[in-house]
Amino acid sequence: MSNIKLGIIGGGQLGSMLCQAAKKLDIKTVIYSDDAEAPAQNFSDEFICAKYNDNEKIYDFAKKVNVITYEFENIPYETLNELNKLKPVSPKPSVNRLIQHRLAEKDFINKLNIRTTRYVHVESKEDLLPLNDFLPGILKTTTMGYDGKGQYPIKNIDQIDSLNINFNNEYILEKLVKLKKEISVIITRFNNNKYEIYEPIENTHEDQILRRSKIPAEINEKIFEQSKEWAIFIAEELKYIGTLCVEFFIDRNDNLYVNEIAPRVHNSGHLTINAFNVSQFENHVRAVCSLEQIPLKKISNAEMINLIGDQIVPYRNNPKISDNQFLFDYLKKDIKEKRKMGHLTTLK
Ligand code: ADP
Ligand code: MG
Repeated sequence: MSNIKLGIIGGGQLGSMLCQAAKKLDIKTVIYSDDAEAPAQNFSDEFICAKYNDNEKIYDFAKKVNVITYEFENIPYETLNELNKLKPVSPKPSVNRLIQHRLAEKDFINKLNIRTTRYVHVESKEDLLPLNDFLPGILKTTTMGYDGKGQYPIKNIDQIDSLNINFNNEYILEKLVKLKKEISVIITRFNNNKYEIYEPIENTHEDQILRRSKIPAEINEKIFEQSKEWAIFIAEELKYIGTLCVEFFIDRNDNLYVNEIAPRVHNSGHLTINAFNVSQFENHVRAVCSLEQIPLKKISNAEMINLIGDQIVPYRNNPKISDNQFLFDYLKKDIKEKRKMGHLTTLK
């Protein structure tokens, strides 16, 4: 019987899956979210609904738990930093601050001599005008972006006025990579050179949202090894504790680029729940709660499909799935276009 209580900031599906993993390990969970309808409250032992800058509620939350983690990266640095003075926050607030800012994140990766897309900082319309060299490209907000939100694909400079870009935000402009494939590598780091790493996962996006993930990824040996090496290097450099995901691009000449890092469990790793002896969620809980590290074993090849918007409806009405399939309904009340509502994993 463990006496650990884990505090999780954020109440979406990743929070739900962390709560389920914690329950399996006999760890109690408290979810803190600013969304009264946060689906993770269906899976946690306790739920606190308050703004992320509500000092009093933040303090109450810290008092209740032994360890704190988070399931999304867009949390004010101040909040994590204050919490960290009360109870250990993993991954460290400084890691979150670095990664939640696309420019700082990309500068950090380049300093490690790891290839990223070409990018440039953009603060005004005037900054954009001379940047033909980066087109076609994608303009991305430096903070708060996810699932393609805050992104403007730009083919030529003449388009800029019609895009109604809000220059109160800061951006980076990234040169478009001629993509052959996208992959991700999920790693859980426990301590110095102590980690469990999953094999690369092949991802397909539609409208900048992840649609499906599968293992094995159809990639060559060099990319298989290089992507894992880079993920290990990044996790070690950050002295990271917990599960981290590195998203990669592969271009048509088989060059590998780091696209971005997620300082948390990741959508592309949902298949680890059914395809491995220990899921990315369980590994995260084990690492942040300083539990035993268990050698990772693959059970099966697998494919995961995200159920986006009303794609969940047929599964809610009449879930006809076979023995090798696992359906996850995130129990979100409102079905919205482009909203991740659930997923289906098929073991192969
Ligand atoms: P988010 O934070 O929303 O996940 P990403 O930067 O990962 O943002 O972009 C989402 C998706 O958009 C990527 O997975 C990829 O499919 C596409 N994309 C983004 N940037 C580029 C790029 N520079 N070249 C080609 N495709 C891109
Ligand atoms: Mg991404």
